[in-house]
Amino acid sequence: MKAVTRRIGIMGGTFDPIHVGHLMTAEAVRDEFGLDKVIFVPAAVPPHKMDQQVTEARHRYLMTVLATTSNPHFDVSSIEMDRPGPSYTIDTIYELRRQYGENTDLFFITGADAIAEIPTWDRIEELLGLCQFIAATRPGFLPNVDNIKEYFGELGSARIHRLETPELEISSTNIRDRLKRGFSIKYIVPPAVEDYIYKEGLYK
Ligand code: NAP
Repeated sequence: MKAVTRRIGIMGGTFDPIHVGHLMTAEAVRDEFGLDKVIFVPAAVPPHKMDQQVTEARHRYLMTVLATTSNPHFDVSSIEMDRPGPSYTIDTIYELRRQYGENTDLFFITGADAIAEIPTWDRIEELLGLCQFIAATRPGFLPNVDNIKEYFGELGSARIHRLETPELEISSTNIRDRLKRGFSIKYIVPPAVEDYIYKEGLYK
């Protein structure tokens, strides 16, 4: 009997902080691509942000857990927090491949702006062989996902996908700015995340 292939989404991001745009994107991708579940993987040390200040990984991880608990199809992994050094996606995908075995298709989901940079990522062609990429973008905003697909030729056409998600007007940068200015973030992040931010005094 042929084993059933599972389809798992890996939602990669800094999540500083996680917001409803991320959650709606993950749910939309799950529907569109028929995924069994989506695992959120907060980057402990985002490789291209090593010279930038990012909120402590444990806060970003806990906010991600708080934001996702109500969805039975969402999980959070501390995989990138459990290993030292920059959070290279290739290491994460190899580890998840080991955990989930051969009969699993992996889909790495992230923002289209991040996908536009993948030609500079570590061992990217090897990575494209291990998982498919889903670039989340908003209508009318075209960070050249088509150019990126062309750049990788047949591999790109087969393994890189684009999904329009209107909610991405919301950004973590905008939320941090609002908090600095003392503006409300109600309805932009889940209530438990809002409470956590105030309780821990983040983004002042
Ligand atoms: P980023 O540059 O902070 O994000 C770029 C854009 O994408 C922002 O508009 C961001 O919005 C959005 N975005 C980020 N994650 C998203 C998600 N999961 N769903 C929808 N939109 C998302 O990107 P980043 O968070 O640092 O990196 C994205 C992922 O790529 C991480 O998992 C990171 O580890 C990985 N990465 C790997 C390498 C490598 O292996 N060499 C290099 C770079 C990045 P918000 O600010 O609102 O999130």
